[in-house]
Amino acid sequence: MLDKRVVQQLQEVVGSQNVLTGKMDMLSYSYDATADMPRQLPDVVVLPTTGEMVQQVVAIARTNGLAIYPRGAGSNLSGGTIPLRKGIVLSFQRMNKILEIDPANLTATVQPGVVIGDLNAAIAPYGLIYPPDPGTVATATMGGSSAENSGGLRGLKYGVTKNYIMGMEIVLASGAKVRFGGKTVKNVTAYDFTTLFIGSEGTLGITTELTCKLIPAPKYRRAMMGVFKTLEDAGNAVAGIIAAQVIPATLEIMDNMTIRTVEAFANIGLPVEAKALLLCEVDGMSQELVNTEAEAVIAVLGRNNCATKAANNDAERDQLWAARRNALPALASLNNTCIVEDATVPRSRITEMLVACEAIAAKYGVTIGTFGHAGDGNLHPTILFDKYDEAMTAQVHLAVDEIFATALELGGTLSGEHGIGMAKMKYLSDELGQSGLDLMRTMKEALDPDYLLNPGKMVPLPAVLA
Ligand SMILES: Cc1cc2nc3c(=O)[nH]c(=O)nc-3n(C[C@H](O)[C@H](O)[C@H](O)COP(=O)(O)OP(=O)(O)OC[C@H]3O[C@@H](n4cnc5c(N)ncnc54)[C@H](O)[C@@H]3O)c2cc1C
Repeated sequence: MLDKRVVQQLQEVVGSQNVLTGKMDMLSYSYDATADMPRQLPDVVVLPTTGEMVQQVVAIARTNGLAIYPRGAGSNLSGGTIPLRKGIVLSFQRMNKILEIDPANLTATVQPGVVIGDLNAAIAPYGLIYPPDPGTVATATMGGSSAENSGGLRGLKYGVTKNYIMGMEIVLASGAKVRFGGKTVKNVTAYDFTTLFIGSEGTLGITTELTCKLIPAPKYRRAMMGVFKTLEDAGNAVAGIIAAQVIPATLEIMDNMTIRTVEAFANIGLPVEAKALLLCEVDGMSQELVNTEAEAVIAVLGRNNCATKAANNDAERDQLWAARRNALPALASLNNTCIVEDATVPRSRITEMLVACEAIAAKYGVTIGTFGHAGDGNLHPTILFDKYDEAMTAQVHLAVDEIFATALELGGTLSGEHGIGMAKMKYLSDELGQSGLDLMRTMKEALDPDYLLNPGKMVPLPAVLA
């Protein structure tokens, strides 16, 4: 139970309407979108509206030795926002103003609680887009997605969050506020702090403002689907499309388990015998170029033993994309618990990873459907199980261990876009080695020696605090 005086101090800083202490009010802050994670009620939820308020909250937390858990929409898939050691959940839901849209510099400056979809709606009249597009654009925030360095479907052609954040304002664990980067395309003043804080999962500092790059919205697009009898042909087609020097906006893959589940769920006429589906969309500013790229993709698909469907208008495009849109909801409907992993391998090893996921599912007797961003090697093996069945849950944990071990063996990484949080911390040394872990700890302790910021995430807690 938090000291009443501390609650009062927090209320004086942000206003009593922006401090939650009731159990029912705080319940939804005790978990996030990650399955199979412990829940923990915070001591208090604070909803600031300015950077100055954040500084004062940090000062109160420091004085009272309280942990701070920054939180956007809580849509992360790595347990990143769970308040493990209680303390303060710092929610950015109400710090959600678009501060400036600057069409001359093609930038926007926003508070961290701005939802990605809202930013895109506000810049659409200028003919601009902010490309990073995690599946949660309708809810995920700019602060949360930059702290996760989120990717999404368009990552292959347009890059991920780190390619779009140009400047930041950060409140450090000391309470000091720093600003770096900005609207200039070039900026090599000082260390590259933007890159350091993007993807740091709220463990090094708290983002209170972001300036991001915008680009002209592509005017034309064409989508097509390839239906494959073997995973090898699908993998070869992915390599062939890139070798043909076409970089599609999206290049998505679904395995047979996912195809069958989507068809049973949404009844959209998918070929349930297919071993894999590839969904590809090319886009650009010229119809001619888009058509040329589409024809090149269709030719590659044709050379790789697949049946091809191409959309001729937006309605047909939406029909093709229905398969991918339904992938996660369909799989998630199979059981009460759904773990979405993001093991990522070099593009050339996609087929091996898909084959391995099927083998792992059979070996442990668990249900795994795999889909994901084939173009950048970022797969989402999705495991469905009954969390109340202890034996099944144990098998699932073994399967997950093997998925990550396989990704690393294939030269890949633990996380392409969902982050480490607490979910993947135990595998970190497998990828980084002890010296890599030591470096993480050195950086954490240089900026946050008392482990006030999101403790227990990304960097294992030291023994005295664990
Ligand atoms: C159905 C579904 C689909 C998804 N699809 C994708 C996808 O395609 N690609 C992808 O990359 N991700 C995806 N995700 C994961 C998730 O949506 C992204 O990571 C998202 O961008 C997180 O945003 P958020 O606002 O919910 O952040 P939160 O979950 O609230 O927070 C994420 C992390 O950021 C930290 N944080 C939040 N705000 C701040 C701040 N102001 N300062 C410092 N740290 C902060 C938190 O402490 C936490 O560590 C998906 C998730 C779901 C549930």
